[in-house]
Amino acid sequence: MILGCLIAMNVFPVVKSRDLLFESKCSSMLNQASLYASSLSTLNVLRAEEVGQVMTLMDDQRLSRVFVTDRDRRIVYDNTVQQITSEEATASEREVELALEGNNVFFSELKAGAVSSRACIPVMSRGSIIGAVFLYEYDTAQAALIDSLRLNLLSISLITAVLALLVGLFLGYLISRRTRMILTGIRGIGAGRYDTRIADGGLDELGEISGEINLLADRLQEIEGVRQRFVSDASHELKTPLAAITLLSDSIVQNDGMDKATVREFVYDIGREAERLGRVTQQLQELTKLGSKARELREDVDLGKVAAEAMKMLLTLADQKDVTLSSNLAEKCIVHANPDDLHQIIFNLVENAIKYNVPGGKVNMFLYRMGNTVQLAVDDTGEGVPPEKLGRIFDRFYRVDEARSGEQSGSGLGLAIVYDAVLKNGGKVEAHNRKEGGMRFQVIFPAAEAGKKPSQSRSRE
Ligand code: ADP
Repeated sequence: MILGCLIAMNVFPVVKSRDLLFESKCSSMLNQASLYASSLSTLNVLRAEEVGQVMTLMDDQRLSRVFVTDRDRRIVYDNTVQQITSEEATASEREVELALEGNNVFFSELKAGAVSSRACIPVMSRGSIIGAVFLYEYDTAQAALIDSLRLNLLSISLITAVLALLVGLFLGYLISRRTRMILTGIRGIGAGRYDTRIADGGLDELGEISGEINLLADRLQEIEGVRQRFVSDASHELKTPLAAITLLSDSIVQNDGMDKATVREFVYDIGREAERLGRVTQQLQELTKLGSKARELREDVDLGKVAAEAMKMLLTLADQKDVTLSSNLAEKCIVHANPDDLHQIIFNLVENAIKYNVPGGKVNMFLYRMGNTVQLAVDDTGEGVPPEKLGRIFDRFYRVDEARSGEQSGSGLGLAIVYDAVLKNGGKVEAHNRKEGGMRFQVIFPAAEAGKKPSQSRSRE
């Protein structure tokens, strides 16, 4: 494009100014020629002597040559010849021939550093052509002007072309260097090196692309970290009961003389460990189910009904642990959520409140509306959680005190499931120790507006 512009810039002004020059030459020379012709038209016949007298009165300083011919193309006056003799040559110029045919003729050309122009017009007397006037001009000054214009334009164009080329190369180099950097980054991330970052601080689109890729890499790194931790925690959780089962069964096999009571005890322990394995795998399954398509569906659910059902299912466990269950559930506490998620949340919280309670303890559930929210609180009278550990109880596989929790069946996944499920359904969950002793878990959901159509679910990645 730049090259095209430069060529146009070089050609157009030069051609235009040359044409203008030719036009002005044409009009001025034809004017002058007609002035001569009209002066000569007073003569009936063009003879050397009389024409010479007329022509000496005329100004021809600008012109290189002026000659006059008679009707037979014989030159009767020539300003470049002192004396015209009768043997003087005949004009051979084509222009003279055309002028004697009655035409005004002009021709101009720019050649060899000069503008040479020729004008020729007929001399008329009483309606008939009696000869022709021929003017010739050789102008170097105007040609020099056009040449200097051409030279100036050429040097400006050359400088512009070189600059454009340099700037183009430099920009091209910068862009390709940054593009290569981005490509290397993408390939690194694609190859699983999630700590790769693209060091491009540009404020343009490429900079934005790099920033977005870095954000993606952050996210991937975070997810990869969570995945690795999860896999290692999960395998650890599965390995521990498996190791215990192997150890216990080996002891039974290797000790022939083991008394019946010890064998019974070991087999009982094996059963407990197997139960624990089952629980962990079931909870893991539960966690993966949270992200499943079926759990994405949300509808308006009466939380009171779900809570009552979950409590009913835990009555036997409460009896076993000598814990009393009571509830105070307000009516019409409607939330827009997935019913299975809600059941899981309440079940896990109440189960924990029973499990980590003391014999003769109490579990109390409250459900009520507050402003635009529906709030559910599960209170217990257990030992609570040390304040410094409260922040971690929603982590996967975290158990406050392995020794103490170990007495209770558990996988350390129950509260992680609660947390994920609450968040996924647009709510939040908090835990704190009560002044009177025990814990309070509080879940807050936005209340569903009556008659509102179920909206698209917002799921947590
Ligand atoms: P677990 O399967 O061990 O119960 P959770 O994720 O449900 O796992 O709970 C994590 C830990 O938080 C438990 O091991 C327990 O130490 C503590 N915890 C949970 N609920 C209560 C509660 N109501 N009272 C006291 N401690 C609790």
